[in-house]
Amino acid sequence: MIDAQPAETDPPEKATLICRDCSHESDVDGDWIVHTEHERQMYDCPICGTTITARYERGQPLTI
Ligand SMILES: [Zn+2]
Repeated sequence: MIDAQPAETDPPEKATLICRDCSHESDVDGDWIVHTEHERQMYDCPICGTTITARYERGQPLTI
């Protein structure tokens, strides 16, 4: 028996970051250069080097 998997009804939990400078787009665990400063996650864009400070909650859209 093969279980009928429901279609993708839930949005993925992964949040997506978008660079405000070059519009590079990737998951938070994508190709961003992540470092921590003052207990906050900082994401450096791998394309243009812009630092993005992302604050997000699990499953919530990012606010940059
Ligand atoms: Zn960028």
